[in-house]
Amino acid sequence: MQPLGVHASIAGGLHMAALGAAELGCTAVQLFSRSPRSWDLRKAGKNDAALFKAARKDAGIKAVSVHTSYLINLSSPDDRLFGRSVELFKTELDAGAALEADFLVTHLGSHLGMGEAFALERIRQALSSMADDFPAGRLTLLFENSAGGGNTFGRRMEELGMVIETARALGMNAGLCLDTCHAFAAGYPMRRAGDIKALANEIKNKAGRESLGLIHLNDSKAACGSNTDRHEHLGKGAIGLDGLHAFFDNALFSGLPVILETPKKTVDDDRRNLSIAREILKQRPLPQK
Ligand SMILES: [Zn+2]
Ligand SMILES: [Zn+2]
Repeated sequence: MQPLGVHASIAGGLHMAALGAAELGCTAVQLFSRSPRSWDLRKAGKNDAALFKAARKDAGIKAVSVHTSYLINLSSPDDRLFGRSVELFKTELDAGAALEADFLVTHLGSHLGMGEAFALERIRQALSSMADDFPAGRLTLLFENSAGGGNTFGRRMEELGMVIETARALGMNAGLCLDTCHAFAAGYPMRRAGDIKALANEIKNKAGRESLGLIHLNDSKAACGSNTDRHEHLGKGAIGLDGLHAFFDNALFSGLPVILETPKKTVDDDRRNLSIAREILKQRPLPQK
């Protein structure tokens, strides 16, 4: 089965994410490298990175994704905020390399009404300023599709394709992280096989066939095209179990690492969503309640 995991907590240290994922039987994990709502520019300590790598190895985790801070806005028209975003992004790249992560996932931010051409140019500036420091090794920078609310950039595959191309032209390993909830909210229907085929073709034609690196698997509380980013438990949302089954029936999506970012009040929420995801990935019908 393809690597499967959750976004795990780093309370108590970065290695706690690997331990928490292991306890849930995960073969993939996503974590923040710092509090996602702080401008903390500290690098991951050598010891923290060593503990994480050891815990990952012990747990047999195959895929590690670091998610960048929510404060980063690489499309920001505000020069000061843009500058701080680039600085913080560089420390995220460092952290991804120090943890020997497979992926660094980032959102493309919001242009706050300045338009898509402006956002693309801002992102090109940001990427150019960090291209020389891009870590060698396995790390791939993945740009995540957005739900499309609040002038966010990256809701359409052509936008993501242009950014991926820009990063690659600068010599960076780059690709796409597809969030199912965001795609649905951005207006890509996902209820049946035909919808999924259309989405897969859109990705192949506009973002590149081999660009897709990681799936964020989430159901959506909000309707298709609502541009509203509200994650829901698998099978309980507007995509639904049929849509999620159809999604993994498509060859483009059936071999990639999968991370759940479903709502959680307690660890039991993760357990429940993981068991549904495992059934879907095995393509077995779910047990009838
Ligand atoms: Zn996501
Ligand atoms: Zn989201």
